[in-house]
Amino acid sequence: MKSIKITTITEEVRKLLIKANFNLPEDVTEAIRNAAREEKSCRAREILELILENAEIASKQKLPLCQDCGLVYIDLDIGRDICIEESGNLSDLLNQTVAETYNNNYLRKSVVSDPLYERKNTSGNIPAIIHTGFTQDSYLHLKVCLKGGGSENCSFLYMLEPSASEDDIIALILDEVKKNVTKSCPPVIIGVGIGGSSSEVTRLARIASFRNLEVRNSDNRYKRLEEKILNEVNKTGIGPQGLGGRTTALACNIEHAPCHIASLPLAVFFGCHSTRRADSKISPP
Ligand code: SF4
Repeated sequence: MKSIKITTITEEVRKLLIKANFNLPEDVTEAIRNAAREEKSCRAREILELILENAEIASKQKLPLCQDCGLVYIDLDIGRDICIEESGNLSDLLNQTVAETYNNNYLRKSVVSDPLYERKNTSGNIPAIIHTGFTQDSYLHLKVCLKGGGSENCSFLYMLEPSASEDDIIALILDEVKKNVTKSCPPVIIGVGIGGSSSEVTRLARIASFRNLEVRNSDNRYKRLEEKILNEVNKTGIGPQGLGGRTTALACNIEHAPCHIASLPLAVFFGCHSTRRADSKISPP
């Protein structure tokens, strides 16, 4: 068994939070650059170029990409034979790191303690949503994702009849895009979860919306469905910031899982143009 110190993990989380808040991921930047080249509408092209300029300024001047610095998701995929050398509670120490990083870097704190009554700011953008999983890798894969409230509010869960078809799914997603995509600062990344359970499918959709845009589903049927959905969404002409154009979405990513015979869960997450994520692989010394 090889061990990784908890302080190594919290230090890495600190760096990833800063990287994600100030730097648009390279694949998202590249997708926006390509979209700007292909846009026919001057207004749409101009908006995409402004998004790129904003990203350049944020990176150079160490400013947040967006005023909404997001709800923090931390995923720890723990490889085989790796143990975490605890010198405290992992969740508490990760939350402490999030609070310190947000306070020290003047990042907006957007979490309230009680959702219904007091709605008092927790003053540290905590708690983060922490998920641990296990892999066969020889390292610990640490992932940080930041989700703004605008796009988070446009997340949908459907428990479909098991007989629902590919066309039914495309129609539902198109309907949600037409009703809600302008609230998510398009161009968006459409994350789709199919299968699992009602709770698992939303996790799949979240993972899909943060997946690298260059990675396609390894199953050709789902890969084709990703292409079909993207194509249909971009045919709507809603465009960047909802002001018209061909780039309503930069990508559609699907993650799928086995499910109960009586169910066909579907979840849709819109990632906004400021989709922020950073990851790192920690190998034991
Ligand atoms: S949806 Fe995204 S770009 Fe728009 S305000 Fe929220 S975090 Fe910022």
